[in-house]
Amino acid sequence: MQLIPGLYIVATPIGNLADVSDRAKAVLASADLIAVEDSRVTGKLLNLLGLKRPMLPYHDHNGDRVRPGLIARMASEIIVLVSDAGTPLISDPGYKLVREAREAGRLVTTIPGPCAAVAALTLAGLPTDRFFFLGFLPAKDKAKRDAIDEVKAIRATLVLYESGPRLPATLKLLADLMGEREAAVAREITKAFEETVTGTLTTLADHYAEGGPKGEIVIIIGPPGEAPPADDDDVEAALRKALVTLPPAKAAGEVARALGADRKALYARAMELKSQ
Ligand code: SAM
Repeated sequence: MQLIPGLYIVATPIGNLADVSDRAKAVLASADLIAVEDSRVTGKLLNLLGLKRPMLPYHDHNGDRVRPGLIARMASEIIVLVSDAGTPLISDPGYKLVREAREAGRLVTTIPGPCAAVAALTLAGLPTDRFFFLGFLPAKDKAKRDAIDEVKAIRATLVLYESGPRLPATLKLLADLMGEREAAVAREITKAFEETVTGTLTTLADHYAEGGPKGEIVIIIGPPGEAPPADDDDVEAALRKALVTLPPAKAAGEVARALGADRKALYARAMELKSQ
């Protein structure tokens, strides 16, 4: 394939090798150099495709150092950017390379393809007209809480990447801070054990309370107000549960926020329950 020199951003499969496009294969085959996250991972892909091309690691730790060389070579060569899986730049390195390639007047083009965030959106059965991609939440508890608080009122479907071991704690925190929102956990998309579990954040937190499943995961959360309002029995049960560990005012506040119920009425009921 005769290509114009420049930067080619190539999406690769997120599990199923058959998802690699003909165009992706052709561009990889024509590459003078492939900028990769991990040469072992991309080496395996190239091997499966029957290709052998030079690779150069490009990631957060060496990006500043190797970028100028890549930009220079794009003037006369086919430079391809891939990530370990899926679409480069989506929770993966690459935006500075694209920005600086443009600034240098290089051709920048894309060979689009698999992306876990978009694939999960198509599986969840939640509104897709407006969605907000969060990538990975921070690992540390306080930063994670702050990040959730920051986005919980956004009137859009939320998309998050997560790992199996962290899933139970993340779902619990999302349920605590966001309340009864419809959600889905999409796992191992396009792989042998692909599975999508739907429910509310609370039912999903319960479902995975015993331990995180294996594999790669996307969490999708419907916009606020999409879940049906909690009925009186649910509110009463939540209040009784909260009162086991919290004083009445706090318990009423938490349940009111989580289930969208009236705080004053809940406080009165909490005091009644406490005095029984
Ligand atoms: N750039 C990639 C893309 O286009 O999806 C995402 C890279 S990010 C470093 C890796 C995360 O994507 C995983 O931790 C997981 O949350 C999600 N992911 C990747 N492949 C997946 C799959 N097959 N099923 C579910 N989630 C996946």
